[in-house]
Amino acid sequence: MDTGRITLKGDGKISTTDTLRHELMHANDKKRDAEGGIINGVDFDKIQKSKEFRNEYLNAGVPADLADYAKTNKSEFLAVAAQGQFSKYSEKFKNVLVKLGMPEWVFKLEVTNAETIKLAKSNEAKSVKKH
Ligand SMILES: [Zn+2]
Repeated sequence: MDTGRITLKGDGKISTTDTLRHELMHANDKKRDAEGGIINGVDFDKIQKSKEFRNEYLNAGVPADLADYAKTNKSEFLAVAAQGQFSKYSEKFKNVLVKLGMPEWVFKLEVTNAETIKLAKSNEAKSVKKH
């Protein structure tokens, strides 16, 4: 949210780049005033409870506590998504993010945080095992 200062969330292992991406997303949210309900034809309240969408974060290297934090409201849903490795997101998920207000250029940002890439790989391996 636009509080005028940056708050670090999570267990303290969150990198500065991830935090800046998170805040950059808040600042560029095209649907800034919408926090829930039907947004651009997307039922956010339904998505908020969906396991499928939580898995999108985990597969992209977002830590589990942050993936849970993403459910807080629509703004955090997008800001947390901006911290993941975009190449791991499904087209369906990216489509939903754009409809909820994420500018498409955000997907062009390079993921430079080694921890995110590492976590995405390990979560991917875990979800492959489950199938
Ligand atoms: Zn936030």
